[in-house]
Amino acid sequence: MPTPYPKNVPGDFYVEDKCCLTCNIPIDIAPDHFTMDDQQCYVSRQPQTPDELDRTLLAMNSQEVDCIHYRGEDREVIRRLVETGEWCSVDNPTRRFFEQRLRNVARVTAPGMTTWTLLTQLFEKPLMSRDYYEGRPSYRFSQFTESEHGVMVQITWHEDWHALTVTRIADDMFLFRLKAAHRGERGFSRLIHHWLKDLPIVSDVQWLSQDEFDKGLPGQPAPD
Ligand code: SF4
Repeated sequence: MPTPYPKNVPGDFYVEDKCCLTCNIPIDIAPDHFTMDDQQCYVSRQPQTPDELDRTLLAMNSQEVDCIHYRGEDREVIRRLVETGEWCSVDNPTRRFFEQRLRNVARVTAPGMTTWTLLTQLFEKPLMSRDYYEGRPSYRFSQFTESEHGVMVQITWHEDWHALTVTRIADDMFLFRLKAAHRGERGFSRLIHHWLKDLPIVSDVQWLSQDEFDKGLPGQPAPD
């Protein structure tokens, strides 16, 4: 079992001791729950609400190495973590009952939007977001490119660039396909989901794995 850093507050989430690459990601994503000292980050407040839990899990999905751990017994939290690839971050042995499932395809219902207006509104807030410590932009975006597959843009919040392609598939429906680099793929689905949730013009989002999409299965309202 990993050794927790001594400054973690008691609770189910903790950061491992001597594991830090100073990625700073938890501080940017969940500053109410993680604090950085001169050694590494640690859990300074455990999540209490569903939104806070989402933020904490997003930080876990986005971290560069598996420093943040879950030692609790909540089956739903364990399922979400394992399905999003955080098997190594779950200490509880019941993690073996679940398997990884990356949901990186989303059917998005947004009446009255074009692909361009939807993307413009989607990125409006993230473009203004600033790094917690240094005030730099939290996210960087490539130029948009348009092809027969739709509109593609690349996004980064650290080093890796992740691609989002949006295709209009009906008057009021868009298909989002996410292709993330390296470990960021889990966090990328969550991040786009959070941005979509904040948009009043989006009336429904259904997330699917590629396999579920290919089989024509219904999606679920969140990527995990
Ligand atoms: S998540 Fe890990 S690498 Fe990133 S700041 Fe925290 S301890 Fe360091």
